[in-house]
Amino acid sequence: MTARILSGKEIAEQIKREVAEEVRGLVEKHGFRPCLAVVRVGEDAASAVYVGSKVKTSEELGMISEHHHLPAETSHKEVLKLVKDLNNRDDVDGILVQLPLPEQIDEREILEAINPQKDVDGFHPINVGKLSQGQKSLVPCTPAGVIEILKRSNIPIAGEHAVIIGRSNIVGKPMAQLLLQENATVTICHSRTKNLAEIASNAGILVAAIGRAGFVRAEHIKTGATVIDVGINSVSSAEIAKELFGEDEIEKRLNTIIKRGFTLVGDVNPKEAKEKAANLTPVPGGVGLLTVAMLMKNTVEAARRRRGI
Ligand code: NDP
Repeated sequence: MTARILSGKEIAEQIKREVAEEVRGLVEKHGFRPCLAVVRVGEDAASAVYVGSKVKTSEELGMISEHHHLPAETSHKEVLKLVKDLNNRDDVDGILVQLPLPEQIDEREILEAINPQKDVDGFHPINVGKLSQGQKSLVPCTPAGVIEILKRSNIPIAGEHAVIIGRSNIVGKPMAQLLLQENATVTICHSRTKNLAEIASNAGILVAAIGRAGFVRAEHIKTGATVIDVGINSVSSAEIAKELFGEDEIEKRLNTIIKRGFTLVGDVNPKEAKEKAANLTPVPGGVGLLTVAMLMKNTVEAARRRRGI
């Protein structure tokens, strides 16, 4: 079997076109553009790239974006004050505080200070609680993006056994809630799970959100399964790359390692997964692209709900 590759690019572009259309409608009918405020503290290189792409995309889709970049030594109180100011501003629809934050800042308190109606990352306990009760809420972007990939690729979810490896608040847990809402039978695995391969290989839908390059191998995959790879890891060793990629990809990957010093890989071994799965998301070019698209969708959603439109 050779797996169908589920391109995140096409789906993300489709969602972004829909969001741009909605923004045009809001401007024409209601005279405003949704505004996303992004807060970044310090100089984390990956955060700078993520925030850059969020700000750029929101502007491309016709929204207003604000980038509040504070120095690494900013105090907890100052970040809290900025969040409260953004909460109080009527023109700001979405607030996103990019993680990780420097250690002097209490991440939990900052996330809890965000007005839940403006919490476009969906990390506030109110939104987490609403999600678990099946109420309308702002949903974390990465797992929401996985659902979009499944639905827009016409992969049935209801009645399927979905296994998620990983139980973080950002991916694994909300992923489980969303799959449950779609009527899948859900199992969550983690580092203490016994017989992980046996459980995973029962899944019609297998979601890997672990943070370990190529962890999911043939033994974890049921023949004909849909495998969703959320992981983003960098690999700089040519030897490891050769274990992960087949003839179709290895040359390109080795060239990337030579050029950039690393290549991005997921939590799934793509060489083995392609031979067993029916559907597979690639890394890069899969779930990662959906995360930003879903943030845009959440911002418009937050703007509509808060303004009662
Ligand atoms: P976390 O480190 O917060 O969680 C990892 C989870 O994997 C934990 O629940 C952990 O279990 C579990 N785990 C670790 N090792 C094993 C093991 N050997 N066997 C079984 N389970 C294991 O990571 P995140 O959820 O934040 O991210 C997961 C991956 O997704 C990362 O590669 C990250 O880069 C990527 N990611 C991608 C995004 C995107 O936009 N595509 C967005 C967010 C994350 P335990 O709880 O027991 O420790």
